[in-house]
Amino acid sequence: MADTWDRSADLVVIGFGGAGAAAALAGAELGASVLILEKQPEGRHTPSTSMSGGIVMATNDVERATTYLDRCAGGMIPIEVSRAWAAKGTDLVQWLDKVGADLALERIGGAEHPEFEGSEAIESWAQSRPSERVPHGTTVREHKPGAPTNVSTGGVRHARRIGLEYFAGLRGAVAMRSEIGVRYETPAQHLIADDGGRVIGVEATQAGRTVRIRALRGVVLTTGGYEFSDEMKINYLKASPMYFYGNPGNTGDGIRMAQEVGADLWHMNQMVGRAIGHFDLDGQELNFVIGIHPPGYVITDRYGRRFANEYPQAEMKHSFYYELLRYDAEKNEYPRNPCYWFFDQRHMTNGPLVSSLGGTVGAGYYDWSPDNSREVARGWIKQAASFGALAAEAGFADPAEVVHTIEAYNQGCAAGQDAFGRPESSLIPLDSPPYYCMPLYPGGPNTCGGPRRDEHARILTPFGQPIPGLYGAGELGEAVGMLYPANGGNLSESVCFGRLAAEHALGRVLPLLRRFAGNRRNLQGNTAARRGVDRGFPGPAGRVPPGFAGGLLPAGSAGRGRRDGGGVPRQG
Ligand SMILES: Cc1cc2nc3c(=O)[nH]c(=O)nc-3n(C[C@H](O)[C@H](O)[C@H](O)COP(=O)(O)OP(=O)(O)OC[C@H]3O[C@@H](n4cnc5c(N)ncnc54)[C@H](O)[C@@H]3O)c2cc1C
Repeated sequence: MADTWDRSADLVVIGFGGAGAAAALAGAELGASVLILEKQPEGRHTPSTSMSGGIVMATNDVERATTYLDRCAGGMIPIEVSRAWAAKGTDLVQWLDKVGADLALERIGGAEHPEFEGSEAIESWAQSRPSERVPHGTTVREHKPGAPTNVSTGGVRHARRIGLEYFAGLRGAVAMRSEIGVRYETPAQHLIADDGGRVIGVEATQAGRTVRIRALRGVVLTTGGYEFSDEMKINYLKASPMYFYGNPGNTGDGIRMAQEVGADLWHMNQMVGRAIGHFDLDGQELNFVIGIHPPGYVITDRYGRRFANEYPQAEMKHSFYYELLRYDAEKNEYPRNPCYWFFDQRHMTNGPLVSSLGGTVGAGYYDWSPDNSREVARGWIKQAASFGALAAEAGFADPAEVVHTIEAYNQGCAAGQDAFGRPESSLIPLDSPPYYCMPLYPGGPNTCGGPRRDEHARILTPFGQPIPGLYGAGELGEAVGMLYPANGGNLSESVCFGRLAAEHALGRVLPLLRRFAGNRRNLQGNTAARRGVDRGFPGPAGRVPPGFAGGLLPAGSAGRGRRDGGGVPRQG
């Protein structure tokens, strides 16, 4: 292999979302130079972290939280891995403060399965500050729960800050660290391993040119899941089609790169799921978080029949997704994919049907109309004066079946008893015309599968051996198995395993050995940056991000021994 490199850093992080930011910040805290490679352009950078609800899970007792996470994992995650997550979760909120993310988090809830042992050790946190993106007096739909929030100048309730502000906090913390450089529009393509199988670098493309970046201590893969790879979805997920409302840039790249150097994969069939809105606009796939309550709602299969208690879906929980997976072998079809959501004018007047601060709308991929009128006009939402006419309009083969289903539901509301066990408080009849219907598909925020990893975030071979120098964090093979543990589980995983990866790759003694040398190096690097010096590959505008040159080796000099911090044992 040619020993030439365009760039070099102690830690190379592939993908700038929550996991990438956490790995980079943890690396910088340990005194390392870090280079983040991001595929998307800076002006159109929409990691799922920034599209999210911004809720993050913490833990308050390692052993109790381990018990709980292990139960949720359903045998798919070794208990040591769950324990590592539980342990890192105990100071997660403090750590985000310490690195300067400035999120002002407050506790808002707990475990999704309070009936499981250890659930009291799980906490959900969200930003306490109101979002400045909501004009006073407008109605928005919060990501969680699905109910709309009236935002008034009286200030009774405001929409919270969510993922956009959460990621802005992390990005701000990254920008403050002179040890970290970020390269946008630089998609990683392949990992580079030495003859012994150790991952020592990354091959990426920038401005149409292939660049090789040396990783002195390790590479952390944080490229997200495979939500936008049709080929991977049909092969790995439990039903098809499936749609996701996160970053279109998450196409499974990191999974393929890890496979190429011998990684095993785990729980590729798992995802964080629910029923979601999916539409096609001039060939562009658009997917939405939808809020189905309040007031009344009914979800049927393709034949107009109810099939499950819709309340978990209304509560934005994740169990309803499992109901959507049924496959009818005789008919060779998924009768609940899509399924159909019926509601009435009362829901329509509540404001936008989709999350309007986060997801596809918040990231600017689509501008959903405040009163849903544009989407009705597009034919995405069918409207009619009666349920019979609505079912015919929506294409049901037997509209009478839909009419029968809604009548039965309304009778249940009058009796205070639901055939599928919905709580009485949710039994609000559909009796305010006009009526509406929207198709929903199994999907959600993210896939969970990817390269198998251990409690140090090391990526493993099919024989359980760590691939030296290679780590993973976040959605890319996250430590979530059968059940999603709590709101905020994904963001928590990305922070905790990002930190674990950096800490293991760099070793705990690094900061002590590096402090003096690192300070000197950063001073030199900053001077170089101010002069606009950028040895190696230039960015799109030839610009050096603040501190980018700091701590990076000149082109071609890597791989010839350690730069500093000699005596630090390599870990892999
Ligand atoms: C609408 C919505 C709401 C959500 N709400 C919550 C919530 O409230 N709480 C929660 O815990 N989770 C939530 N999630 C899920 C959560 O946001 C994600 O699981 C989490 O942010 C994943 O972080 P990540 O760093 O692994 O991936 P991302 O944040 O998606 O970052 C991955 C990055 O890698 C880049 N990339 C991909 N391929 C390459 C390549 N080849 N080279 C370089 N870069 C590459 C991508 O462009 C992207 O920037 C939500 C998701 C969505 C979409």
